[in-house]
Amino acid sequence: MHLILIGAPGSGKGTQARRLVKTYGIVHISTGDMLREAVHSGSDLGVLVNTYISQGHLVPDTHVTTLVEERLDRGDLPNGFVIDGYPRTVGQIGEFDRIMKSRQRTLDAVLRIDVPAEVVINRLSDRRIDPETGRIYNLNLEGDHPDPDLEVRLVQRNDDRPEIIKQRLSTYNAETLPVIEQYREMGQLIEVNGARAPSLVFASIQRRLSSQTESQ
Ligand code: ADP
Repeated sequence: MHLILIGAPGSGKGTQARRLVKTYGIVHISTGDMLREAVHSGSDLGVLVNTYISQGHLVPDTHVTTLVEERLDRGDLPNGFVIDGYPRTVGQIGEFDRIMKSRQRTLDAVLRIDVPAEVVINRLSDRRIDPETGRIYNLNLEGDHPDPDLEVRLVQRNDDRPEIIKQRLSTYNAETLPVIEQYREMGQLIEVNGARAPSLVFASIQRRLSSQTESQ
């Protein structure tokens, strides 16, 4: 199975991707995570990439496309993948198509998690990460609040600051909404309401994916 996962920053893509991985035995590919790894490695590419990410701007297509191609050629994707963060611009749609065709892989569906802007702004401002486990917490979500001794070690993603969040959302509206429209026109889009509990969002995704496979 090959899926694209699209949604605004903070729409819950990471959470749903984890569930998709568990349920369908596919691999999660996140361009955001790959780019952040490049930044942390301190490589030349990482230093360059950080100048874009830290401002909430997109990294130039060629760098991201190369990373995606290298990832797909690693040979550990027997059941397919769910890719999150790519394609993120209309230009990247054609690149993704080329990458898939040349590797005899077929896209099954594009999952869009739809969440209103005010919800994502709140979620991102309250998002914290445990640097030791990578687990994401939301300080304002009931049942998600960490123990006080854990809370002290949580960090905020550098681009989860209010002024950068605003920029990321406007980049998303300008560059990524047209991607969604294009996949809608191509008849490949599955849209789910993401302003609900993660388990309900996932139940919708599963339902829609299974009815899509039946109709094929
Ligand atoms: P979010 O969806 O929460 O904004 P991601 O973790 O997916 O965050 O991406 C973080 C940053 O990485 C983006 O703001 C952008 O700078 C860069 N990035 C990720 N994917 C792409 C892409 N396909 N094209 C260009 N830049 C990208």
